[in-house]
Amino acid sequence: MGKKVYIQTYGCQMNVYDSEKLKGILSDKGYSLTEKPENADVIVLNTCCVREHAERRALGRLTQLSHYKVKNPEVKLVMIGCVAQRIGERLFDFAPLLDFILGTSQVFNLPEYLENKTRLANVSFKDSQNIFDDVLPIRKNRYISHVAISRGCNNFCSYCIVPYVRGPERHRNIEDILNEVQCLSKSGCLEVMLVGQNVNSYKDKNYDFPDLLQEVNDKTDIKRIRFMTSHPKDLSLKLIEKMAELPKVCEHLHLPLQSGSSRILEKMNRGYTSEEYLEKIQNAKSKIKNLSLTTDLIVGFPSETQKDFEMTLDMVREIKFDSSFMFRYSIRDGTKAAEFEDDVFEKEKLRRLKELIELQKRISLEKNKGLIGEKVEVLIDGKSRRDKKSWKGKSRNNKTVILKDEKEGSSGKDLLGEIVPVKISDCDSWTLFGEFIK
Ligand code: SF4
Repeated sequence: MGKKVYIQTYGCQMNVYDSEKLKGILSDKGYSLTEKPENADVIVLNTCCVREHAERRALGRLTQLSHYKVKNPEVKLVMIGCVAQRIGERLFDFAPLLDFILGTSQVFNLPEYLENKTRLANVSFKDSQNIFDDVLPIRKNRYISHVAISRGCNNFCSYCIVPYVRGPERHRNIEDILNEVQCLSKSGCLEVMLVGQNVNSYKDKNYDFPDLLQEVNDKTDIKRIRFMTSHPKDLSLKLIEKMAELPKVCEHLHLPLQSGSSRILEKMNRGYTSEEYLEKIQNAKSKIKNLSLTTDLIVGFPSETQKDFEMTLDMVREIKFDSSFMFRYSIRDGTKAAEFEDDVFEKEKLRRLKELIELQKRISLEKNKGLIGEKVEVLIDGKSRRDKKSWKGKSRNNKTVILKDEKEGSSGKDLLGEIVPVKISDCDSWTLFGEFIK
């Protein structure tokens, strides 16, 4: 009987991809996957440290998972990803039962270490790991998959730990990316999300990111293409034109603004002003029909005044993002911003965050209401969590759509894995509700 592996993942799309790929690699080596840590021979925790809260959560979970090793000392306990990278070998002091600590560039070496080593911490970026281009990720969602196109980041935004834990930017061969997308398509996948910390700076031979989109559009059978994350400073006119022109590229752009104040953006080392950001957004909106826009925002960055914060609110009102990921600033040791005085009180950070969330919620509702009566194309990828009779899916512009009751909404037809036309009849701030158009 093969050994059983349990993998739990926290964090971004890249961590999700790494875990899915690791599942594929382990399964090729004869391991089977389990959803229950109590049944596992190997327990893997893939971690995120982008915010203090995420790191605390990962460490708390590690403590919980250690109990399975207390019960059965034969179990191998493994921590991978960004927290493993950041804390490294010192994690053995925090969790003495840990067997392996593998940094972000060592994750796929796990099967080899399980076979040949007893206990080890490796957080080196140097011995580059085999990235198993021929192994398909094992994914929860059969119809939607992530594909990594690059790793690492060279931008060093002053608040961000990612360049320190993910290392310098490395780009994947275009042929390997095309091959993976085509294999996914053959296995039933309909939509890929091309992921990287900054996809817009992708480069391989003479291909830049817009060229990569063109190649995936033309040379694979995948039905839909998305990408994440774009850095505003590298968002080119060529990319906007390709988004407008290529039929498989979905009308959704996630472009992290972070702050509406150019002074704060400079302190964040973001490389653009709020005016430049706005200009790019207006250009994208004018060229791409039905474009949906999402963003990331931070409130309470060191020295952020009420006036700076109001500039963020003004940008949100003006651009009308469809949705936003909104956070209050928290110090990450080792970053440039950790040297700044964290001078916005916690209570004030929370007040600003609440005001921003309320504004975004109103705008999201307003934008969703504008879609009532419209026909949208929805990729059905499962049943609604709240109502098992209803189908759930994603529109091209990244909205979650729930189809009414099977009987009413889809005439009892099995819609799983299909891209179907839906008429939107209702909404709330986060979700659209609609009916299948026969
Ligand atoms: S672009 Fe900035 S925020 Fe994004 S990963 Fe790189 S350093 Fe972090």
